[in-house]
Amino acid sequence: MYKSLSDKVVLNNGVKMPVLGFGVFKVPDDDTARCVELAIRTGYESIDTAAIYQNERGVGEGIRNSGVPREKLFITTKVWNADHGFESTLEAFSASIKKLRVDYLDLYLIHWPVPRCDKFVETWKAMEKLCREGVVRAIGVSNFNAGHIDELLSKCETVPAVNQIELHPWLSQNDLCAYLKSKKIFAEAWSPLARGGELLKDQSLLLVANKYGKTPAQVVLRWHLQRDVIVIPKTIHQERMAQNADVFDFALSSEDMATIDRLNKDHRIGPDPDTFDIDANC
Ligand code: NDP
Repeated sequence: MYKSLSDKVVLNNGVKMPVLGFGVFKVPDDDTARCVELAIRTGYESIDTAAIYQNERGVGEGIRNSGVPREKLFITTKVWNADHGFESTLEAFSASIKKLRVDYLDLYLIHWPVPRCDKFVETWKAMEKLCREGVVRAIGVSNFNAGHIDELLSKCETVPAVNQIELHPWLSQNDLCAYLKSKKIFAEAWSPLARGGELLKDQSLLLVANKYGKTPAQVVLRWHLQRDVIVIPKTIHQERMAQNADVFDFALSSEDMATIDRLNKDHRIGPDPDTFDIDANC
């Protein structure tokens, strides 16, 4: 089991990725540099952003201000719905690395499958090209269901390294996680804390947390790690950055894992991947 914030998983192409990273969704661009620099100083080595978050510039600035060499960090960004298609994906990639001011990405993801447009195979072929050229170390998908991945696998060469999906105790997605494991695709949880609201007030979660002298957020993050899921919690507060990273000195018993498993109610807080097509450019 993972022992520290610098522990890595080995993706299906051999690239190592930190199991716990820092997400920046909804962090305004002008506060992102501060948050990213603080997170890196706290010990985070992996940063998750996306073109649509409009804070790639701030992520790049935070990385440079941290003084940590680029090659010690793991940077993920994502191609947005409006940019599906071969040429537009290549252009979106160029725009992202320009804003980040980096010359390569560690992980590039298709943000949503947008099935209505039926262009994710074309998009994936552009990502495969970027990977072959060495400007992206690993490629993956986000919000893909098993059917979307089956289609990719039948038409393309590269198996996605990760699938970043909504995953938390209210939406444990056991079937999709088992499917991903069978294909050697890592599951990565977005909104791992279910956005930090009602879930963290759940009484059974509080009881488990008290047992270990931890907070509900720490127990939830630990639950993900013990399920072999990569996590990228977001916070703008320094003390929470430290708290969310301090999950390597305890282990949940199988009984407590089962207690958290029982919170599942197949409840999404985000959109349904089969129908979400905002900004789509078909
Ligand atoms: P999270 O589940 O990470 O929750 C973030 C919220 O929880 C914030 O409001 C934060 O508040 C609060 N919080 C953080 N830590 C704690 C804590 N220890 N105790 C109590 N509250 C806490 O949600 P996100 O939606 O941000 O998901 C994480 C990341 O996943 C994103 O930042 C993004 O990188 C990625 N993502 C990807 C998506 C995709 O489609 N691929 C979709 C959504 C997210 P505060 O900041 O005030 O501390």
